[in-house]
Amino acid sequence: LAPPPSNAPIGRIDGDSFSPYAGCDRFDRLPLSQKTIDGLKKSEYVTMTEIQRASLPHSLCGRDILGAAKTGSGKTLAFLIPVLEKLYRLRWGPEDGVGSIIISPTRELTGQLFDVLKSVGKYHSFSAGLLIGGRKDVGMEKEHVNELNILVCTPGRLLQHMDETPNFDCSQLQVLVLDEADRILDVGFKKALNAIISQLPKHRQTLLFSATQTKSVQDLARLSLKDPEYLSVHEES
Ligand code: ADP
Ligand code: MG
Repeated sequence: LAPPPSNAPIGRIDGDSFSPYAGCDRFDRLPLSQKTIDGLKKSEYVTMTEIQRASLPHSLCGRDILGAAKTGSGKTLAFLIPVLEKLYRLRWGPEDGVGSIIISPTRELTGQLFDVLKSVGKYHSFSAGLLIGGRKDVGMEKEHVNELNILVCTPGRLLQHMDETPNFDCSQLQVLVLDEADRILDVGFKKALNAIISQLPKHRQTLLFSATQTKSVQDLARLSLKDPEYLSVHEES
């Protein structure tokens, strides 16, 4: 643990615990836009979890992240916040198209993180779409997918758009997120992911989060990670 910043508040004494870090782990201590701060507040997120506290200072600076923390540790906000902030700082708008792609392995997980995005991002004006397979009408999606700023998708559905949607354009992509990266990088998705990655611009920020650390050199090479920050948060059990 690094020493607390010199401008840290004097620690509060809550019960019998005294911490010089008290107050340092609140979201509103981060250099976030007011819209994100308000969205977090409205969604009742106040204090950062360990993986959020470890990764956000890096991801908010634009660095690539390889983050590992067990299920339930709060990885979703660890990537949604930098996505919102990056596009906000770039003044991303309706004309700019797809600025971020967030890939998650299953329809269910993808739907859940889309709900978190809608909740935390509610004061931002970005358009976001949930692209998953199943009964949803792909024809409608095809007409609108180029107008979306943030795509939350499963690998299969994203690839379907890349293959079939006329003028599908992600050449301006700023942030790529792989949630449950170990599962997405697994053999089952290998072909789809390679096809996706080959169509994405290399100059971008990439955030990988999973329950276990992925350090396969081959995986990292094909994702074109730039000097990634390895963050692993393990609680003592
Ligand atoms: P993971 O992706 O690591 O499995 P999630 O991002 O799904 O974890 O978060 C797990 C649970 O913790 C969710 O119910 C989420 O709302 C909650 N959570 C995440 N971050 C915070 C936070 N900073 N404060 C309070 N609850 C949080
Ligand atoms: Mg998760």
